[in-house]
Amino acid sequence: MNGTNIKKLLQEYQIRPNKRLGQNFLIDENILNKIVKTADISKTDTVIEIGAGLGNLTQVLAQKAKQVIAIEKDKRLIRILNNNLKNYKNVKIVQGDILNTKYEIRNTKYKLVANLPYYITSPLIRKFLELKNPPQDMTLLVQKEVAQRICAQPPKMNLLTVAVQFYSRPKIANHVSKEHFWPKPKVDSAILRIKNIGKPKVDVEKFFKLVKAGFSSPRKQLINNLSRGLDIDKKQIKRALIKCELDSQTRAQNLRVNDWLTLVSSILF
Ligand code: SAM
Repeated sequence: MNGTNIKKLLQEYQIRPNKRLGQNFLIDENILNKIVKTADISKTDTVIEIGAGLGNLTQVLAQKAKQVIAIEKDKRLIRILNNNLKNYKNVKIVQGDILNTKYEIRNTKYKLVANLPYYITSPLIRKFLELKNPPQDMTLLVQKEVAQRICAQPPKMNLLTVAVQFYSRPKIANHVSKEHFWPKPKVDSAILRIKNIGKPKVDVEKFFKLVKAGFSSPRKQLINNLSRGLDIDKKQIKRALIKCELDSQTRAQNLRVNDWLTLVSSILF
């Protein structure tokens, strides 16, 4: 569907795109194909799509996958989705808010694919990474800056970067100009591919307590943040940093996930 067709369709149903729900629809078939190609979908795959909108990405997914579960929050769009996807028997449409719904796939492998509304990007990625049965991988169209933050390396690490890289290997697969959406958003996007999803063998709660303390005042040195946040003597923190071959004056932004993993087993708290 191009921009004119989408406009006509929405007019026909007397619907205006809802900005708050991030309704910027993809209007370029090449980009839809690029997303599905990046997701590496085959006829044995079950796919969950978040934010199906008018079903343009859903259709391309349905042609490649065994089954597509398309989740959409906006009740107004469900009628359009039902109509646009009526010939695809392998599509199940679910109305609901993915952040609040208990919808969870158990015992089945699945892939997550979405052109995400920007406001849910971080909570959604974290939610799915933390599930008991996380997806095999994710292919997400997200705001370019968010994709860059998630894939950052030292000295640009941040809490979100560590949270995602703890569970997976994220990578930017492609950049997508804002010209390919209707209505046109203010920012460009990127296709983010998140692979190798799993959980390192460590006490997750303790790990994130350490990381959160480390980033509590990002401009301050790690030693001060950890000492204050964990209520531990600075001398003990310094000994642990040196043991982990880290500069005692370093900041949280310089540490990779592996550094945090070594550090968590070197500090008693
Ligand atoms: N997939 C379509 C496309 O590529 O053109 C639409 C993508 S649009 C960027 C995001 C879609 O997510 C919108 O249809 C919006 O209504 C839906 N949405 C927003 N918040 C949601 C939520 N919390 N749960 C499920 N869907 C949501």
